[in-house]
This record gives sequence, structure tokens and C-alpha cells, in this order.
Amino acid sequence: MDSLWDYPDFDAHELVHFVTDRNSGLRAIIAVHSRHLGPAAGGTRFWHYAETGEAVADALRLLRGMSFKNAMAGLPMGGGKAVILADDARTKTPEMLAAYGKAIDGLGGAYVTAEDVGITVADLVEVAKQTGFVSGLPAGEGEVGGDPGPHTSYGVFLGVKAAVRHKLGKDSLAGLHIAIQGAGSVAGGLARRAAAEGARISLADIDRARAEALADETGATVVDPSDIMTLEADVLSPNALGAILTEQSIAALEVPIVAGGANNQLATPADGQRIHDRSILYAPDYVINAGGIINVAMEYLKSGDPDTVRHAVEQIPVRLEQIWAESDRTGRNPADVADAMAQKLIGRMDGPTNEVATTTVPNLNAAISSVQRAADSLDRLTSDIRQDPQWKNGEYTSTPPGLRGALQLLYIMSSAPLVQHRDAPSRDSADAVINRFLDARMKNTDANDFLYAFDASRDSSVAC
Ligand code: NAD
Repeated sequence: MDSLWDYPDFDAHELVHFVTDRNSGLRAIIAVHSRHLGPAAGGTRFWHYAETGEAVADALRLLRGMSFKNAMAGLPMGGGKAVILADDARTKTPEMLAAYGKAIDGLGGAYVTAEDVGITVADLVEVAKQTGFVSGLPAGEGEVGGDPGPHTSYGVFLGVKAAVRHKLGKDSLAGLHIAIQGAGSVAGGLARRAAAEGARISLADIDRARAEALADETGATVVDPSDIMTLEADVLSPNALGAILTEQSIAALEVPIVAGGANNQLATPADGQRIHDRSILYAPDYVINAGGIINVAMEYLKSGDPDTVRHAVEQIPVRLEQIWAESDRTGRNPADVADAMAQKLIGRMDGPTNEVATTTVPNLNAAISSVQRAADSLDRLTSDIRQDPQWKNGEYTSTPPGLRGALQLLYIMSSAPLVQHRDAPSRDSADAVINRFLDARMKNTDANDFLYAFDASRDSSVAC
């Protein structure tokens, strides 16, 4: 196998974590692309891969899209993704999910998981028994949570309408012909909404029965999966597979618009330019399909109710308009425009990077400055005790109150603000959480031991 850094999809990913649990048979890869905007969020895929290298490539490839998706959706979350490597029989046990939950927990909040292909809400309930870093859990009435699919399909529907407005100058889908690839969760929601607005729908799914059931419900026409990409229509909406827009398939398109929810639709970056050269309006996939992750993130952050989620999903057309306006102004294709906007948002201004020169140096600088910051912080941490007269140069007979200040600083330095915001969203609840922590630690922490532990860590080498 190639080294990780040589994979074509490697893009200065911050962390790639390989998990093996012998007892349950779990094998998984948890990968984090960027935490520039917050903890890395993205679903777990449960899939059978012919070889491990394919699983690594899949995790890396899906990841950059997640960073871009979360950034463009305006979420305070970075991009993460995980794959569980299924065996031939696709065995999935509670023990395996428990081991997976422990592995996520061990990352301390660097990665927050949710559903992806092969992982259900019920699976996540198992995972959540081991870790709080999980979202997409069942929601009660009036709460945010549950299956992200309906939110994704609502965003895709709004994105299709925005594309129709931009390209065809029409405010309604009435009388338009929409060709939909797939008849699953996202495609189904789109088909129902488009049909309700009076659109004529053609759809295809390799699962013929699924396609026919959706067609019965929406009055759509079922076509052969091999014909859907070449149908003459107003919109092609891919909602099944990735990498379907290739040099050959783009040349055969008979539509003015491609707008759908499938991830990674462009087989290569060059295909974004090819589709643009044919004057076909393209809705960048990670922008139009962000509805689900918006719901997942808001559930995790406990930062709203279903109305807040709906309002956030309704910003998707606004973002698409910004991309298309910039594309019209500059002549750059929408996929490139979206990538550049997303790169800027995640602090990687120089475009896609897997060259050493543009990735190693900033990481090294960041490491050096974090070591300096750590040394300064150690002085601040210990000074609350040393400057406390009741510390008596270490000869105290009762706990010096300065220890409380030191513990409070330690709590703040080692905390993950977003996670804490989730657990204690108001000032009063935050005070209560911190006071509980301090009361407990004051009972079992010795001030001199505290000083000794922190002074000793000054000599530890980050290179070890
Ligand atoms: P799903 O599994 O419910 O539906 C996918 C459907 O595509 C299935 O019915 C499958 O039979 C069909 N399909 C597979 N290969 C096909 C082919 N060659 N031709 C026609 N149909 C084919 O999945 P979903 O949740 O609806 O997701 C659809 C796409 O949207 C996927 O690419 C997914 O990654 C992406 N997406 C989904 C969400 C979400 O919240 N569900 C979020 C973002 C992106």
C-alpha cells in the first residue's frame, strides 16, 4: 500500500485514526480533515471494501467534501468522516458498535459522528451508549434530531428551484421536466415536493420496485437507470451515486441544469469546467446537500429548534446564488468558485493542497507557537498558587484558596468550548458546571502536588 501521504485524495488531513478491536472484530478508520471551524463532524459509513486501501481512499475522499460542506453551511464545525470496514457478510453487532463508540470517545471530541450509508439511527443509539460525541439520534416532539434525509431533500428541492430561477428565469417548477437519478430518501423527498408543485418527473433506480413505488406516489414515469443521464429535461437531479459526471456523461447531457444531493458528483475537478463549458448550470453538491448536516450539527450543539433548522436550510439557495453570481462575474466555473470560497472559510487560502511546501510549514509554525503558548500558560496556571500568601511557600496546613483559581484556569485551558456550550448553554448552567467541577477537585487536589505535576511537564519533549 502507498504511504498515506501519497494517496491522491490526501489533502493535509489533520488526523487519520485506525481502529482495531479484536474482541468484536471492529475495523474502522476515523479521519479528520480540518478543525479550523470547530470539532470535525460527518457521518460514519458501514461498507464492505475489497481491500483496506479502498477504505482509506474513500474516507479521505469523502472528507474534504465534509469540511467544505460544513463551512459553506455556516456551521461552527470542521470536516470529519469515518468508515467501518464490513466483512463479506456485513456483520454488524452491538459489541462492534460499542467498541466504535469507545474509539470515538477516545478522540475527546475531535470527531462527532452521525449517519451515513449503512448506519441507521438505531446503530447510533448503540454508539451513543459509549460516547456523547454523536448526533442524528431520535428526537422527541419539537426537538432537533433524527434522520437527516428529509432535511437534505428539502435543501435539494430549494436548490433546484434556485437553479431554475437563475438559469430559466422561472419561480415555479410547474410544467418543468425533472429527471431524478435514485428513488431513495433524498430523491423521494425531492420528487414529492416537485410533483406537488406541478413538475413532470422521470426517475430511475437500480431497485426497480423502489422506483415504481415512488412513481405511483408522485405520478412520475420510471425510466431505465442507463437512460436517466441522457434524458431531455429541464433539470437532472443526481441523488444516488458519486462520480457520475465524467467527460463522457457530460458530453451526453441534454439538460440546462444539474442540481442534486449525491455526494462527489464530479468524477474529477476538470469535470466542473467541462460542465460549465457546455453552459450547463451546476449546483455544487456539498452546498446543495447540506440540509442533513445542518440538522445534525444543530442537534449536537443544542442550538435551536426545528424552525431554526428550517430557516438555516433555507439559506442554501442564498449560498448557491452567491456562487453563481461570482461565476457569472468572473467566468470561473461554479465548482471552482465554491471550492475557493470553502478553502478561504477553513483557512486554507491556497487552494487544494497535497504539496509538502504548503502544508508542513504552517503546521510546524502552529506547533512551535503552541509550545510557547503552553509554557506561558504553565506560568499562569501555577502563579495563582505561588502568589497566594496562604500557600506559605509550600508549608501550608490547609488548602490555599489560590488552588481554586489554578484549577479554574486549567479547566478553561483544557476544555472544548463547543462541547461545553452544548452541555451548558446558559451563563447560569455554565457557572453551575464549573463550580461543581471546582468543588470536587478542591476536595481531592493537593496544591503542592499540582505545582509538582505542572513543573515536571515543562521538561517533557513534544518530539517524543
Ligand atoms: P438511499 O440509500 O436512501 O438512496 C439511494 C438510492 O440510489 C437507492 O435506492 C439505490 O438503489 C439507488 N441507486 C444506487 N445506484 C444507482 C444507479 N446506478 N442508478 C440509479 N439508482 C441507483 O440514499 P439517500 O440518503 O437518498 O442518499 C442519496 C445520495 O445523497 C447519496 O449520494 C448520499 O451520499 C447523498 N447524501 C445524502 C444525505 C442524507 O441526508 N441522506 C446527505 C447528503 C448527501
